[in-house]
Amino acid sequence: MQVATTGSSLREFLRKSGGPRVLVPTMGAFHPGHLSLMQRAREIAGTQGSVIVSIFVNPIQFDRPNDLAAYPRPIDSDLAACEANGVDFVFTPSPEAMYLPDRSITVTENLLSRNLCGATRPGHFDGVCTVVLKLFLISACDVAIFGEKDFQQLAVIRRMVRDLDVPVEIFSSPTVREPDGLAMSSRNARLSPEHRADAPRIYQALTRAAGLTSPADILSGARAAIECSPLARIDYLSLVDAETLQLASTLRRPSVLAAAVFYDDVRLIDHVAIPVDFPS
Ligand code: AMP
Repeated sequence: MQVATTGSSLREFLRKSGGPRVLVPTMGAFHPGHLSLMQRAREIAGTQGSVIVSIFVNPIQFDRPNDLAAYPRPIDSDLAACEANGVDFVFTPSPEAMYLPDRSITVTENLLSRNLCGATRPGHFDGVCTVVLKLFLISACDVAIFGEKDFQQLAVIRRMVRDLDVPVEIFSSPTVREPDGLAMSSRNARLSPEHRADAPRIYQALTRAAGLTSPADILSGARAAIECSPLARIDYLSLVDAETLQLASTLRRPSVLAAAVFYDDVRLIDHVAIPVDFPS
């Protein structure tokens, strides 16, 4: 495994590699969810292709300075996890290597990124699109893999690739959960023991509400189940169309019930699919 800290050194390493090149963009602090993406990348790349993992805590996608400062960065164990999971190349640039002080171009998606995390985290998806496009260009990857856990991010990136004719095929991989249902996240390590014990209520609330039969019941059911904890504070709870991510007022099309919940300053996201309610 080779580790590059600049785009030019990564390109030099990749010069002699065969295809396909499969990229897994991450911010590090690996858990089994990340490892599942690396394993999927290895399957897609096969023995001839290359798996590239980027580890970059992207400052321009953080809206809260404390969240950026507190984001875990266990680089030694992350590199060991990459090695153990068949990764060929790791790209770990510094913020200075990625962003010039007078940079003046940003990628903006204007529809799918408006609701949910985009509404409560101003500029977040501009930061995501900009860094992901840069990583695609630096690595010249053929394929990139993203987790379904961040389903809005996945939808926004698919839209960017479609609208800008980016020659990268996007694969997705299912959410990996703790045994109690909590979606694995690098931020879970920052929960206090009391908050960690309470946090599975998010997924439970979403899955139970998904069985209700009207948008109003689904939203009020999920809200009540989360808000009955004095520890949890809802950032947003929304029912959106699964394709357009616009607010859904009926169940006639596939939709998604999505939530972001704060435990102190730790913000967790999760979502469930809501089945279509066909009129009988
Ligand atoms: P992050 O390091 O949080 O930016 O995540 C890097 C990639 O891992 C993104 O594509 C995420 O969607 C994905 N990911 C994060 N958590 C999980 C999880 N629990 N299951 C599957 N994929 C995940």
